[in-house]
Amino acid sequence: MQNPRDILQHVFGYHSFRGQQEAIVQALVNGEDALVLMPTGGGKSLCYQIPALARPGTGIVISPLIALMQDQVSALRELGVRAGFLNSTLSFPEVQATERALLAGELDLLYVAPERLIQPRTLDLLQRAPLALFAIDEAHCVAQWGHDFRADYLRLDMLHREFPEVPRIALTATADMRTREEIVERLELGAAEQFIVGFDRPNIQYRIQQKDNPRRQLLSFLKEEHPQQAGIVYCLSRKKVEQTADWLCREGFNALPYHAGLPGKLRETHQSRFLREDGVIMVATIAFGMGIDKPDVRFVAHLDLPKSVEAYYQETGRAGRDGQPATALLLYGLEDVVKLRQMMGASEGNEQFKRQEQQRLSAMLGLCEITSCRRQTLLRYFGDVMEEPCGNCDTCLIPPETWDATEAVRKALSCVYRTGQRFGATHIVDVLRGSTNEKVITQGHDKVTTYGIGQDLTADEWRTVLRQLVAAGYLDVDPAGFGGLQLTELCRPVLRGEQSVHLRRDLRTRKPTTRTARRPDADIAEADRPLWEALRACRRRLAEEHGVPPYVIFHDVTLRDMLEQRPLHEQDLLSVNGVGDSKLKRFGIEFLDVIREFDYSGSQAL
Ligand code: ADP
Ligand code: ZN
Repeated sequence: MQNPRDILQHVFGYHSFRGQQEAIVQALVNGEDALVLMPTGGGKSLCYQIPALARPGTGIVISPLIALMQDQVSALRELGVRAGFLNSTLSFPEVQATERALLAGELDLLYVAPERLIQPRTLDLLQRAPLALFAIDEAHCVAQWGHDFRADYLRLDMLHREFPEVPRIALTATADMRTREEIVERLELGAAEQFIVGFDRPNIQYRIQQKDNPRRQLLSFLKEEHPQQAGIVYCLSRKKVEQTADWLCREGFNALPYHAGLPGKLRETHQSRFLREDGVIMVATIAFGMGIDKPDVRFVAHLDLPKSVEAYYQETGRAGRDGQPATALLLYGLEDVVKLRQMMGASEGNEQFKRQEQQRLSAMLGLCEITSCRRQTLLRYFGDVMEEPCGNCDTCLIPPETWDATEAVRKALSCVYRTGQRFGATHIVDVLRGSTNEKVITQGHDKVTTYGIGQDLTADEWRTVLRQLVAAGYLDVDPAGFGGLQLTELCRPVLRGEQSVHLRRDLRTRKPTTRTARRPDADIAEADRPLWEALRACRRRLAEEHGVPPYVIFHDVTLRDMLEQRPLHEQDLLSVNGVGDSKLKRFGIEFLDVIREFDYSGSQAL
């Protein structure tokens, strides 16, 4: 059996394991089961790829992400790993060829879609092949209430009965306790060792802003902070995805839409352009993103509120997998809260399910409205403790002001009560501000005692108050009606004068000043720039030749290391982070040529 450290160095070109990787690899190599919870970008793939190479037989990787298998397999082949896949995109002769390779022991790793795996033909095939392990990727797909649920995953509990000798590793980036328990239970992983890696993603700057003029807010964010960079913009509806993508294109950005309603071919093209081209913005519904392992996504912007903290964490986690600075921006407002609360109230499903959804949404709203460190709250939600505020979220960078809003809150709540708990926020604000519009008059609301008692605040300020009251659960949204607000039990002590309420003051713009427009490579010295550009051009050319995204040839970190070390011989190149034996052989000479040329012209200049 080959030593895992040798494989790490020679195949992947990395000098050391990260975090718990080595312990996980060792457990698998010893034939034990493992459950791995690691944030996106943490390095999950090596946890099964290395033991698959170290152990005799083929490692079977179960993944729902058919569209990505080709890329994953190409990336492995560039490393000299013998990899293949089985899914519905293959023709029958291609399937047969892969099956033959498996039986002949010519594969180190085989990626299989779950629906393909559970077919009798595949199970029979696997019974006849020597297997190193089963890796169940995106294991949270087994969780029935989760939004990524796949029924085929439920059948995977048979693996250890049918293949008792083969170790299993289940991996996910979904952090919440409930999902973790569901994975253990449904996949019968009770005896597996659990590896739970801290969930912090320190390089992501979390920011949550009040929606004011969302397009203008997004535009200045893109222009000032992330010009020409790759990122994802999430929207709730397909229509909004298309409108936003169109508008961004008109504004001169390279933006593409992605949602489940687009034809499969077009979705594939857009995904592949996002992976291969520089600086593409993907405007998408949550249908996009699972398994996208593009390392240099520099921002994730949400134009609508995610349904839960889990969803928010998972979606924002797609930024900055390479560990370089990235931003997560969420814009939200009163309409979002009302819309989501309504959607949930009206959704199918039993009462317990609805209650859970509401609780999840409340936790998300709590995160939006807090005045302390966002990261501390986010991590606490997943059971991680962070002692000090992070210094890299909006509330740390610009601490929000709070004010004693007890008086205003009482006015707002009584106004809701006096007008019959049937009206939405706009009408409530009109009554408070003493508007004479038609609806106020025809409803006779100019006669209620709360009419006009709120002249001291602007309409925007009242909306802020109402939003925070809904978020904090003082007000409910009528699911059947048109967003009518209703009082909840929580209001009693406030209305009786027994409790005071502090709210946050919204700032018009909440852009931390510590960030200015910059390119990801802005820190590269002027003198190094020509070589840097030449290395990138070399990478681009090779990527095109091999039909893979540039980062499959080498990551930015690897090019940076080359820039620093300036290797002139093959042996030196091996000590660059990310250069293993296979890539040395395939691409080494091309990059050495580029570096040598600069070294030569550099020394001439001396
Ligand atoms: P995940 O699947 O957990 O989101 P990946 O397996 O895609 O993460 O790894 C994220 C990035 O980190 C990849 O680019 C990978 O090559 C890199 N990486 C993983 N482990 C190491 C390591 N030990 N040393 C250096 N880079 C690593
Ligand atoms: Zn913070």
